[in-house]
Amino acid sequence: MSIPTLALNNGRALPAIGFGTYNLRGEPGAAAVASAITTGYRLLDTALNYENEGAVGDGIRASGVDREDIIVTSKLPGRFHGHKETFVGFEESRALLGLDYVDLYLIHWPLPKVGKYLDTWRAMIELRDQGLVRSIGVSNFTIEQLTRLADETGVVPAVNQVELHPRFPQAELRAFHTEHGIVTESWSPLGNRSEITAEPVITRIAADHGVTATQAVLRWHVQLGAIPIPKSANPARQRENIDLFSFELDDAEVSAISALESGRLWGGDPDTHEEF
Ligand code: NAP
Repeated sequence: MSIPTLALNNGRALPAIGFGTYNLRGEPGAAAVASAITTGYRLLDTALNYENEGAVGDGIRASGVDREDIIVTSKLPGRFHGHKETFVGFEESRALLGLDYVDLYLIHWPLPKVGKYLDTWRAMIELRDQGLVRSIGVSNFTIEQLTRLADETGVVPAVNQVELHPRFPQAELRAFHTEHGIVTESWSPLGNRSEITAEPVITRIAADHGVTATQAVLRWHVQLGAIPIPKSANPARQRENIDLFSFELDDAEVSAISALESGRLWGGDPDTHEEF
């Protein structure tokens, strides 16, 4: 299977679809990660706060695929915001993963009330310069927060991973990302067990293309230029979710799915949400 790639602002690239691992833990988690890799996923998404980096590392080793061919993403949680703390949090992730380097390292949430995301970003730049991290980015950052990072440090995040699904297409933020060379990743791309894939608009479009509703939604992300990172513990659904590159939605279909917008599903407003 040939998966297109999206160029990052540092000369590297990411595949157009990745694999989410929230709630995949222990031996079943490692088996699900190994299965995803053998199915064809090369971009993995984890975080210190998912408490599964050990399982992700084990899944990579069990897959038989070269580590160099896999792009591992992890995220720094709020309790490690701050310059010195960032190195401590990173080393914890690196040890749990059992890897020499992390491909893509993100600040998990901006926590503006804590007020340390800028110091944290400066430490992320050092991690990159030391070769411990290949690409650095953020998650759940607003236009204002992204602008502040770039203005204060001159380093634009390679990626901003945000809530994005048909209920919350994030048009304004995506346009800003495009303008500034930031790649968008979509978390909860399927709306995480919400009823999105039962929407008649989506089931009709899926039927017209002979694909599943889930595939129609994931293809919509691809055509928006955002990288979806669906999670599935099930090998058959993992295969379904990556099989997106032999059909194409037309502009009207993309717009019809975007018109399902109603707002965030989980209340994770980056200006107020706090998790540590
Ligand atoms: P999601 O990927 O939108 O949805 C996952 C749910 O959909 C699971 O219950 C899964 O069940 C089901 N599913 C997957 N494929 C399916 C298919 N083809 N047909 C029917 N059901 C299907 O939700 P998510 O896990 O919240 O988001 C994806 C990833 O984004 C996470 O795993 C995590 O890596 C990341 N994330 C990041 C943040 C952040 O703050 N940066 C926040 C939330 C999530 P099965 O496993 O049983 O298939």
